[in-house]
Amino acid sequence: MFQEENYDAVTATEFVDETLVCKDCGKEFVFTAGEQAFYAEKGFQNKPKACKACRDARKNANKAPREYFTAVCAECGGEAKITFQPSNDRPVYCSACFEKKKNAQE
Ligand SMILES: [Zn+2]
Ligand SMILES: [Zn+2]
Repeated sequence: MFQEENYDAVTATEFVDETLVCKDCGKEFVFTAGEQAFYAEKGFQNKPKACKACRDARKNANKAPREYFTAVCAECGGEAKITFQPSNDRPVYCSACFEKKKNAQE
């Protein structure tokens, strides 16, 4: 049986914080009453699918597409993340060793 009284109670309480699961990281996040009001005001039909951290990360990724290459540090043998294509004729250093070398030169 359809409970009309309950239905009215739900619509009367405007927005309530809602816990959603992020489709990117799988963590729960809160779709706050304030955000829901904002969405309703903008006429958005869909709830957010990703948490704020993932949405921000995606925004930043779109803004500055950066490709990272991984190479072996010539100094410590550790993993070095670099923003350019590694070439064989030049040694590649991880950020820690790069800092060390830079400081040693000064
Ligand atoms: Zn997430
Ligand atoms: Zn290193």
